[in-house]
Amino acid sequence: MSNLLRDRLAAVFDDTPIIDTHEHLRTDGDHAFNHMGLETVLRGYFGWVVPGAANEEGLSPEAWWTRLRPALDRRRNLAFYRFLLPAFRDLHGLQDDELTDENWETLDQRIRDAYQDPSWFRHVLQERAHIQTILHDPYWKVGDGRPEQPFYRVALRINSLLYGYNRDARDHNGNTPYTVAERLGLEVDTFDDYLALCEAFVRHGLEQGAVCLKGAIAYDRSLDFQPTPKDVAARAFGHPSEDLTPGEVKAFQDYIVFFLAEQARAHNVPFQIHTGLARLDGSRAMFLIPLIQAFPDVRFVLMHGNYPWIHDLAGLVLSFPNVYLDLVWLPILSPTAARRALHEYLEVAPADRITWGGDCWTAEETYGALIYMRDLLLDVLTEKVQSGYFGEALARDLIRRILHETPKELYAL
Ligand SMILES: [Zn+2]
Repeated sequence: MSNLLRDRLAAVFDDTPIIDTHEHLRTDGDHAFNHMGLETVLRGYFGWVVPGAANEEGLSPEAWWTRLRPALDRRRNLAFYRFLLPAFRDLHGLQDDELTDENWETLDQRIRDAYQDPSWFRHVLQERAHIQTILHDPYWKVGDGRPEQPFYRVALRINSLLYGYNRDARDHNGNTPYTVAERLGLEVDTFDDYLALCEAFVRHGLEQGAVCLKGAIAYDRSLDFQPTPKDVAARAFGHPSEDLTPGEVKAFQDYIVFFLAEQARAHNVPFQIHTGLARLDGSRAMFLIPLIQAFPDVRFVLMHGNYPWIHDLAGLVLSFPNVYLDLVWLPILSPTAARRALHEYLEVAPADRITWGGDCWTAEETYGALIYMRDLLLDVLTEKVQSGYFGEALARDLIRRILHETPKELYAL
């Protein structure tokens, strides 16, 4: 169906240098170029919903596909699968509507061949997807603010700092801040030493070039952070995990999150926080109200549309001028929820508080995530203009704001 208005908006989208506010792209280490293939792309979110997608056992490619196929056949409806297909079509010439016994091997070979050129991922991200800047969250490099690529800026992952009450505790990625203490040559014997480490961790990361703090804490524990007196928080410090009650650990972590918000304020950088899904009993963004209220001058970027509580986020951004909403990940979780959410967000959230990111590990996934975002943004804006809610000039302006101007301003890029 041709729609001239939508085509004109698409031209604006394709002309906009995109600032992608969140990715985990792995372009070195275990995803080295000569290991990239179909399996590497499928081990991401697809692997979350299709068991056996990651070939941890080192099966032959044929044995891997044979194991994967029956599970895939029962889950072909999922967005975590479908968002990859446009990327396979546009980037690697997949002709069919689905991955099949007949086409997987050719596709796998094409991906392997493409990555023989070390600049392939840059070609996809910069030339095909028109991404100008990526905020990179390399959670496997604790406390490291140095960008891996000239067009990356680091979001400094702070989860490990919630697990510094002893040297054996680890966050959900297996990280401890004591590796950073060693690197910085800091002795940590007392709780005050530990707070000095938190301060140095943030200062050092930002000096290296990081542009914001990032907490994926909802994968570790609940987002119910309460103001906590220092002496209560200090009780957990230096004790083995088996001697600590859940309440003592929570008090320590609550205090550290408030302390980190204080650091975000001191350095005037945004604080990105994962909301929704993860540990579902504690990931609802509403839990963050005490923190948001305690720091009215810290910009909290609440990510993922707080899915499945997309409406809560609309209420939060409307109620608190220091709340930003990032659509990151939402379009590939559920493009329908993202459409509904965006329709609503555009009515309650100032355009200078909405951003987007992909949240992926490979360039193919990021490309697919962007295609999903492009489609739903163009659909929503077209519907808004056609219903008379606003005019075409504003729709064009919103594309540039969400994808470029707002993140540029927010992260001082
Ligand atoms: Zn992420």
